[in-house]
Amino acid sequence: MDKRDIEEIVRNEIVKSVLDSQEFIIAGNWKMNKSKQEVISFLDDVANHDFGDKNKIIIAPPNPYLYLFEEKLRYSKVLYGVQNLFPKESGAFTGELSYAVAKEFGAKYAIIGHSERRTLFDECDILVSKKVRICVQNQIIPILCIGENLDQRRSGDYRQHLSNQIREGLIRISGNELQDVIIAYEPIWAIGTGETASPAQVEETHMFIREFLVNEYGNDLGKDIPLLYGGSVKPSNVKELALAQSVSGFLIGGASLEASTIIEINDILSNK
Ligand code: PEP
Repeated sequence: MDKRDIEEIVRNEIVKSVLDSQEFIIAGNWKMNKSKQEVISFLDDVANHDFGDKNKIIIAPPNPYLYLFEEKLRYSKVLYGVQNLFPKESGAFTGELSYAVAKEFGAKYAIIGHSERRTLFDECDILVSKKVRICVQNQIIPILCIGENLDQRRSGDYRQHLSNQIREGLIRISGNELQDVIIAYEPIWAIGTGETASPAQVEETHMFIREFLVNEYGNDLGKDIPLLYGGSVKPSNVKELALAQSVSGFLIGGASLEASTIIEINDILSNK
């Protein structure tokens, strides 16, 4: 056996032990996609599928489909949430969705501050922080999205940008409330572009974010906040990305639309 064979065996053992032991969050963001019939067949495919006990599957569909999720996933382990929320209970807010309605339909999670909301709908950090607050106050787990654009990545300013987005996004959250927050690092240049951040880039950035969280919020809270990666994740790259340190799971757009792909990703992350 030569050195390369031994290295390969050691590497396979490491991969196996990470995939066997680590619990991953697999969150799907459907954005403005899917017909009613497509949603029904997706739900029929996943509702009784055995995803195992290790990973957590969460899907965020367009709002009108929440009633189908509630109906079809009642006895399923698959969880679901919304892609956005307005930070008020009810009232004259045309076109918006309240946490109260989302909760009534069984939503347990809300994607907050996705880069598409920030860039296409001018959402600022203040609004994002109010949305995070209303979620935490009402037992909906916010998935706070942060991420830099290509200019910020190239200029090296991305670390400052990411720490500002976290600090501002969590400004209305204190102490133990941080236990009810998930952060998703999604470099804008890798969303929907087919261009994934390399495992080394993901590891470097996640380690930076983890260090920031520990310094800012203390070791006990900062070390445990789940940190997802998002940006063109698919079955062919998810294993490599899962090995990057401090990756607790993935926020997935395009590849979350098909039940078979979600099942495949879960299988890979379960080392099946
Ligand atoms: C997203 O929208 O959050 C996302 C990561 O999309 P995609 O996986 O398609 O890049």
